[in-house]
Amino acid sequence: MSAIDLLDVRKVYRDRDGQDLVALERTRLSLAAGEFLCLLGPSGCGKSTLLNLVAGFEAPSSGEIRVAGRRVERPGADRGVVFQQPTLMPWLTVIDNVAFHLTLKGVGRAERRERAQAYLDLVGLRGFERHYPAELSGGMSQRVGIARALLMNPAVILMDEPFAALDAQTKSEMQEELVAIWERVGATVIFVTHSVDEALVLGTRVAVMSRRPGRIREVLPFDAPRPRDVTSPAFNDVKRHVLGLIRAESARPPRAA
Ligand code: ADP
Repeated sequence: MSAIDLLDVRKVYRDRDGQDLVALERTRLSLAAGEFLCLLGPSGCGKSTLLNLVAGFEAPSSGEIRVAGRRVERPGADRGVVFQQPTLMPWLTVIDNVAFHLTLKGVGRAERRERAQAYLDLVGLRGFERHYPAELSGGMSQRVGIARALLMNPAVILMDEPFAALDAQTKSEMQEELVAIWERVGATVIFVTHSVDEALVLGTRVAVMSRRPGRIREVLPFDAPRPRDVTSPAFNDVKRHVLGLIRAESARPPRAA
């Protein structure tokens, strides 16, 4: 059984003028358990829409999404989500931010702390438990967001450009750490990015979407050894191909909805 299936998914929004805006059209995609799929495509092609549908934040207009064979109807603890901005609660300490979902579930303080601590250790934040979000750098805040998403031990992790706001050095450190975490927890990941380099540093497969209305244009496996050597011929061959696809999509006139 696949970890995630998108079966002919269509998503239509209503734009400001009351016109239908087709964000996703006949989108089909299957992920095996433990895959790390990076989703690339021109801006506005529906990457975030696809992620929000798998997260259960929104419902498809037609078609179906399944996680572990079950139809997605709402958000669930089996899917952890990490956004570009980690949306931490400023009045809570780091450890209480990470443990927030457990607080909502009525888990006692000692167990909350113990479980949150394990994930803070995993993302390299030991020693920062009592800090408040305002005292953290962008990279540290994003680590808190990742620890919070991992806390419920989700089978699926959905990430929407989580490192886009970070400086180049921090971004590269976070990418390395994310791969180490993913190898350790064994979750299935969908990672939205607009950076071809980032997709090829992280992914076991890279899916390129067409211009809106978005569909999966091509899915490429990429199994170069880790850590990935961005100067290697294999890396650059795939990069050239993916860049060509994205450029062709960006240049294409939009299809009628
Ligand atoms: P991407 O993540 O690839 O940049 P999005 O998934 O954010 O693209 O958006 C796809 C299209 O759907 C865009 O044209 C966007 O304006 C539109 N869209 C996204 N969310 C909404 C919404 N809630 N209401 C109306 N239109 C939306």
